[in-house]
Amino acid sequence: MLDPRSIIFILAALSLLMAVVLFAMPASIRQRLGGARHWSLSMLVLAGASVLYGLRDIVPDLLSVTVANAASLTSVAMIYAGGRAFFGLTPRNGLLAFTVIVACLVMIACTYVQDLFSVRVIVFSLVSGGLLLLYGLDVSRRRPRHHGSARFPYLFTSVTVFVDVLASFLRIINAVLSPTAGSENFFAPTPMNVLYFSTHSLLAICISVGFILMLNERLHAMLEHQLSHDALTNAYTRNIVIDMAKRALASGRRPVSLLLLDIDHFKSVNDTLGHQVGDAVLQHVVVTLGATLRPDEPLGRYGGEEFLLLLRDANPEQAMLVAERLRQRVADTVFNPNGEARTITLSIGCATATPDENLEQLLHRADAALYRAKRAGRNQVQQG
Ligand code: GH3
Ligand code: MG
Ligand code: MG
Repeated sequence: MLDPRSIIFILAALSLLMAVVLFAMPASIRQRLGGARHWSLSMLVLAGASVLYGLRDIVPDLLSVTVANAASLTSVAMIYAGGRAFFGLTPRNGLLAFTVIVACLVMIACTYVQDLFSVRVIVFSLVSGGLLLLYGLDVSRRRPRHHGSARFPYLFTSVTVFVDVLASFLRIINAVLSPTAGSENFFAPTPMNVLYFSTHSLLAICISVGFILMLNERLHAMLEHQLSHDALTNAYTRNIVIDMAKRALASGRRPVSLLLLDIDHFKSVNDTLGHQVGDAVLQHVVVTLGATLRPDEPLGRYGGEEFLLLLRDANPEQAMLVAERLRQRVADTVFNPNGEARTITLSIGCATATPDENLEQLLHRADAALYRAKRAGRNQVQQG
């Protein structure tokens, strides 16, 4: 069986390895992923703390107790701060630094003024367990819940964090019930010590695997979003909405309708107000349309200033109602880029699939209807 000192050195090596894995992430990606920097550093600091713990009775207590405890609490504070950064919350650096410093001062007093091993254990476990509890709560409360998001990384992290919090809690109870246990020989290979050190080391590594899983999930979600959404307007890309339309038609269950929406006289916006204002008009139109659309009504950027809306369950009358509502909403929402109000209007072509009609034919009818709307004076809806 491994003795506690060997377990601590294994933890040091594994933490260092985790730090290497996290630091190996390209800097450009690490900067985009909140928390990655804190978590890489936390693993490095934990590796340092573990080495110092492992050298207990070999190097002075100042290093193996005081500095090691300070480093270990700092690494837990960084894990918590990393979680806040990951979820886009404001860091609590001041409060965290204050907590760690106060805890260290109390532990120093309990080492040099009077050697109170159990008080040190209680203070350390309270702060470390408390910070981990807050981190676990952040992870379980703020995990992504949208359709298709991976739940496992967040579940894995919160479960391992809560088990570690429980271990801290048990250690506090143990220190209260038998204050002298462990004070003589920190690394005594008693079953309790071996169990504590191995569980704690395993959990520390599991928590760091949790960072990697969560960062990986976030990166995956970011890439997937970039591949499926138009960078300027955040509408779906053409391919995505066309694939959705193909699938809706293939299912053959409900009346599928398509709306082709085109901004009127858009070229003149570009020509008179500049390309940047033109871009802002595109964004304004998508935001305005998005505010009235349901999640199951995907809007894609079909090209330049043309958009395609898929209605998976709308007969011709319902499709016309939706189109008219959208047209009205955009016409009524004033676009006000730099104090100069402007009305933006849309022409919309609408078509509902007949049995056996394919996507090209349906798009062709929607396009013909759009053309008629333009010819008839714009700012209107026509049915194909
Ligand atoms: P109509 O009412 O007949 O639709 O006229 P229009 O001016 O809206 O249409 P036209 O096809 O003549 O012009 C579309 C313009 O859209 C031309 C192109 O330069 C501009 N455009 C395409 N993509 C973008 C973009 O991403 N940003 C900006 N600012 N302009 C774009
Ligand atoms: Mg146009
Ligand atoms: Mg056009």
